[in-house]
Parts: sequence; C-alpha cells; structure tokens
Amino acid sequence: MNAPHAAAISAAADGRVDPWRVNADLHCHSYMSDGMLAPAALVRRAHANGVQIHALTDHDEVGGIAEAAAEAARCGMQFVAGVEVSVTWGGETIHVVGLRVDAAHEGLISGLSRTRAGRDSRAREMAEDLERAGVPGAYEGALRYVGNPALISRTHFARHIVEQGVCADVGEVFQRFLVEGKPGFVPHRWARLSEAIEWIREAGGIAVLAHPGRYRLGDTGLWALMSEFRDAGGEGIEVLSSSHTPDQYRQFARHAREFGFRASRGSDFHAPGESRVELGQLPQLPDDVVPVWHDWPELAALAERA
Ligand code: AMP
Ligand code: MN
Ligand code: MN
Ligand code: MN
Repeated sequence: MNAPHAAAISAAADGRVDPWRVNADLHCHSYMSDGMLAPAALVRRAHANGVQIHALTDHDEVGGIAEAAAEAARCGMQFVAGVEVSVTWGGETIHVVGLRVDAAHEGLISGLSRTRAGRDSRAREMAEDLERAGVPGAYEGALRYVGNPALISRTHFARHIVEQGVCADVGEVFQRFLVEGKPGFVPHRWARLSEAIEWIREAGGIAVLAHPGRYRLGDTGLWALMSEFRDAGGEGIEVLSSSHTPDQYRQFARHAREFGFRASRGSDFHAPGESRVELGQLPQLPDDVVPVWHDWPELAALAERA
C-alpha cells in the first residue's frame, strides 16, 4: 500500500477533520460499465486500500449503485452515488462525473438510458471495421467481457484485441485502434454538455469535469470548455486523475482557482492489472484548491467516527 494515505485521518480537538488529508476516491468503474469487478468487490477493494469516501461512477449507468452502497455500509465506508456521463462537445467526447446524485431520479435515469442507446449498433460497426483491418470476431469477443449488455464500450473491444495477441496491452490498443483515424473507430453522438449537467443537478448532484487533461482541445478549446461547463452549472473539476501528469495536477489546480471550481480526486480505476493507478492511491490534493467533498455530510460523518 502507498504511504501518503496510510496515516488515516484523525479528528482535531474541535471534532473537525482536515478535508485535504481524507482519502477520497471519486471515480471508478464496475462491470456495470467497462470495469472488471462487481460493484461490491470494487467497494471492498477501495476500503482495503484505505479509501474513506468512495464513489462508483460507471459510464452512463447507475445500475451498480445499490449494490455498492450496501457493501460500503457493511464495510463502514462513506459512499456517494456517482455516474460518468458521455458528452459530445465541439466534436470531442467529454466526460462529466456526477457526484452525490440520487440514483433513483427519473430524469437522470431516462437521460442516461437515452445516452446508452446506440452503443450496440456502434459496436457492430466497430466490429465490421476491425474485421476489415484483420481482427475478426470482435463483436462476439468484446461481448465476452461485457457485464451489462446495454453498455458495450471500446474498453471491451480493447480487452478482446489484447486477448487475441494483436496488442500487448489496452494502452497499445488505444494507440493503434479504436481512436479517430484508426481501425475500429466509429464516431458517435453522446449527450449534450448542458443536458448532462442538468440531469446531474436535477438529481441533486454536483457536476465535475472528468480528466480535463485528456482532451485534445488545445489551450483555447480547453478554456472554452471550462467556461461553458461553469456557465451551464458545472461546479467541479478533476485535478487529480490517473490520466494526469504531476504537471497537469498543478495546471488544473490553477484552473480550479481561476474558474472557482472545487477540486476532485479520482483514480478512474477499471481493473486490477489494467489500471495505472490503484483505488485510493493518488497523491493528496494541493492545499490551494478546495476539495469537492469539503462541505459534504460524508466528511462530517468521518469526524464523528474518528
Ligand atoms: P466508449 O465509451 O465506448 O467510447 O469507451 C471509452 C473508454 O475507453 C474510456 O472510458 C476508457 O475506459 C477507455 N479508453 C479510452 N482511451 C483510452 C486510453 N488511451 N487508454 C486506456 N483506456 C482508454
Ligand atoms: Mn472507461
Ligand atoms: Mn472518462
Ligand atoms: Mn472513467
């Protein structure tokens, strides 16, 4: 286990805990989307790794939340319901994480269901294109990794391509296949930025811009995205993400201050041995940003238990 969070939080004399020292991991995936673990197994792994506030954020899906929440309660770990919504903005795919959402909210559920529609036909087109590129049987192969038939994704194809020995790992697949200009890429229209934020907010949640360092937008495009995200009601930004370099931690901490965003921390864990960063093992947030959880009841609950 990593050292930075080995020393769990303790309450100060006034009963408050230091939000910066809390091990919050607010971005990960179960097999309800493109992760490999069951929601309960993921929660147990987070707890074993020292996570104190945990969120499950499956792509376009909240079907794993009830199982995860029940397991977190058994473990005595603070849990918040989350989701990662796929958005098309300026021709790019952008991800928006919703945190502390009501997973039973009808508007959210129907919006996510509309966003998921079309994944299967996209997958069949991806498989046809891969077949032309010399990777046969990819639809059936990808399906073997799918836990939720409504959510076949590029990750499932990537695992199949690795299994076939065509690439050494998932990272190599996303260099040679499945991205714009490479075999297996099929453009898709996801939700609009404004509607994703609206579903999250209507479900009582807070919208967080996921892994902003990953988008190929250039400085001007990134600025435009963050401005529009804020104007549409977005309140947070992932400063710490497994997709970010330490330089990007600093860059997005600065942008968080400039735009008045709260800062989030998420490993984006998908599977043991596949994900670059384990659950709960990113560094601490810098002290010049405000943690997205700083005023959450889950933080107060930690103080009561400390
Ligand atoms: P989809 O929603 O079907 O377009 O699939 C998107 C998923 O592919 C992301 O959530 C990641 O899990 C995965 N992915 C995209 N790019 C990469 C990459 N460069 N390396 C590893 N996984 C990636
Ligand atoms: Mn994913
Ligand atoms: Mn993402
Ligand atoms: Mn993710």
